[in-house]
Amino acid sequence: MIRFNVPPFTGHEMEYIKQAVENQKICGDGEFTAKCNSWLENKTGSKKALLTTSCTHATELAAILADIKPGDEVIMPSYTFVSTADAFVLRGASAVFVDIRPDTMNIDENLIEAAVTEKTKAIVPVHYAGVSCEMDKIMEIAGKYNLKVIEDAAQGIMSTYKGKALGTFGEFGCFSFHETKNFSMGEGGALLIRDEENIENAEIVREKGTNRAKFFRGQIDKYTWVDKGSSYLPSELNAAYLYAQLELADEITKDRMDTWNHYYKGLEGLKDAGKIELPFIPSHCEHNAHMFYIKAHDLEERSKLISFLKENDILSVFHYVPLHSAPAGLKFGRFSGEDKYTTKESERLVRLPLYYGLKEEQTEYIIGKVKEFYA
Ligand SMILES: *Cc1c(COP(=O)(O)O)cnc(C)c1O
Repeated sequence: MIRFNVPPFTGHEMEYIKQAVENQKICGDGEFTAKCNSWLENKTGSKKALLTTSCTHATELAAILADIKPGDEVIMPSYTFVSTADAFVLRGASAVFVDIRPDTMNIDENLIEAAVTEKTKAIVPVHYAGVSCEMDKIMEIAGKYNLKVIEDAAQGIMSTYKGKALGTFGEFGCFSFHETKNFSMGEGGALLIRDEENIENAEIVREKGTNRAKFFRGQIDKYTWVDKGSSYLPSELNAAYLYAQLELADEITKDRMDTWNHYYKGLEGLKDAGKIELPFIPSHCEHNAHMFYIKAHDLEERSKLISFLKENDILSVFHYVPLHSAPAGLKFGRFSGEDKYTTKESERLVRLPLYYGLKEEQTEYIIGKVKEFYA
């Protein structure tokens, strides 16, 4: 059976976890967390990166820092993971869903302005499959209406828009290191902070509302409760696992990219024949091979394809059920404008196995079976 995902493992994880244990420092913000934070800052050019317990938590942290309140509205796509909405709904805000572009599956930047009301506080672009949203246009609208931008870059590590790292455009950027993402720590994530003035508050909220980070830097001689907060820092054991992956980030990305390109070349004939659609990468976007998907003609054809692949020992999966049609989506959100593509395109999309270490002959086998299905 070819699995859909296998968590990334480079070989150095156990050694680093052992080191963390031997350091007798297994709670948060030790040596490995610091190394991961620096790596993220160097890689993205962000002023500050903080590891968190998940991308969901990074987004919650961002929502607290952005002072999202009951009654506020937050603009986002409906075609996304629940966490994108949850983080804001938890603060009492409602989600305003905007349709996606069928080519990238990202929020349609040209429909955002029509969704802005006097209650709108933030825009949350989701960089689907590690392919950037149209950030120039989104930042322009945010500037015009004085809105915060919080990027759900859960899938976007190593990706860029016009040469700039995803997660660094808005006030806050959120990464995920869940086991299904390119680099992993089991459960975990990171928050990127763009503006100097938000760094200290971020450290406080992440550390139960205390100024403990300042204390550890020797800037104050005792720490205390200074604001509301929670516990968003991961254990060193998780950070040690992640650091082993970050060190080999280029190798992991190259391996994934080879598979992605292999799929694309192998399935291009079916695309040209009009049988399926393949991912679209705008020329000014550099992606990270987070995902390889194809689009079948419709829901029925997709179900048959998934079953056919399963009969042939290949696990392929569909993705998000649009949030606006989910029970909580109906309660906590509304769709702005017409759902022209969100539902239709989400019903056609199927993701093929893609993970670090997937072998070339396996990719070849999968390509062969997709072709066989469409023959
Ligand atoms: C994975 C993912 C998340 C959630 O990440 P966690 O680290 O599991 O909390 C949020 N948004 C998107 C778009 C994701 O793909």
